[in-house]
Amino acid sequence: ETVVNRIAAGEVIQRPVSAVKELVENSLDAHSSSVNVVVKDGGLKLIQVTDDGHGIRYEDLPILCERHTTSKLSTFEDLQSIKSMGFRGEALASMTYVGHVTVTTITKGQLHGYRVSYKDGVMEHEPKACAAVKGTQIMVENLFYNMSARRKTLQNSADDYSKIVDLLSRFAIHHTSVSFSCRKHGAARADVHSVGTRSRVDAIRSVYGVSIAQNLMKIEASDNDLSSSVFKMDGLISNFNFVAKKITMVLFINDRLVEWTALKRALEIVYSATLPKASKPFIYMSIVLPPEHVDVNVHPTKREVSLLNQEVIIEKIQSLVESKLRNSND
Ligand code: ADP
Ligand code: MG
Repeated sequence: ETVVNRIAAGEVIQRPVSAVKELVENSLDAHSSSVNVVVKDGGLKLIQVTDDGHGIRYEDLPILCERHTTSKLSTFEDLQSIKSMGFRGEALASMTYVGHVTVTTITKGQLHGYRVSYKDGVMEHEPKACAAVKGTQIMVENLFYNMSARRKTLQNSADDYSKIVDLLSRFAIHHTSVSFSCRKHGAARADVHSVGTRSRVDAIRSVYGVSIAQNLMKIEASDNDLSSSVFKMDGLISNFNFVAKKITMVLFINDRLVEWTALKRALEIVYSATLPKASKPFIYMSIVLPPEHVDVNVHPTKREVSLLNQEVIIEKIQSLVESKLRNSND
């Protein structure tokens, strides 16, 4: 059974960056205002995520890393209206099958926290009382220690580290009221360092640099045309002055970081038709839709989002971006 669980876990956690994404989303679900990430060897040696969120109750610790343990879903109907990012109760469990997980946490009003380690879904020992300030710290060590083929294919740690930096940069520019940092273990300087409670443009400047931030145009839309449901979009898109090595599309739908290849391709086409020089644009977009219109990614490996009225939404955004670019060019 352990082998089967390990294989399943390896599907949920495909690379170090997938573990970081799950951990940071848990921190955001816990209403943290600060999330700090430390990484060693591209995440294979160590991933450590520290937050100042609401913490985990003592009585939840024994089952925390069992599969399908979640505090975010009580009925099947909740699946349709889920607002939090995590809901499968699979991420932490999976990590314990492919790495060594240690949780340190304290809840509000407690005098001390608890620390406990997990292996293959279960606690390795009773939670130990320890000093703790506020929130939760989760450490994942020796990821894929029991999957040697996976470890080998992931040996380019620089590549994985840059994926993690990219991920944190994306979270930082959407969740502007949350402070984020990401650094290599032992490094004095953080590679992502974003202080909360500031404007989106300021956040973009601090993580993506001045040259991107100073060339952004605001874009907005909202209506109830889409089969009488409400659709809201706001974003910041680069104008003609900006040329990057590749397109950067940061997309959040209902506050979840997602990939939507069809929209990305559609916007690339608009850019190369309207502004050939800016064929590698920077695009940040946040879309809000009724939750029941968004496929909630029941399968954890499915990064790609799927929506009702996809074509309508894509066309709408496409023409908005096009007119914005044309106006800026005149
Ligand atoms: P899910 O997020 O899908 O519920 P996870 O396996 O990611 O499942 O996490 C399991 C549970 O552990 C969560 O539902 C939550 O109650 C708790 N948890 C995990 N990380 C944190 C955190 N950083 N702060 C508070 N609670 C957490
Ligand atoms: Mg989760």
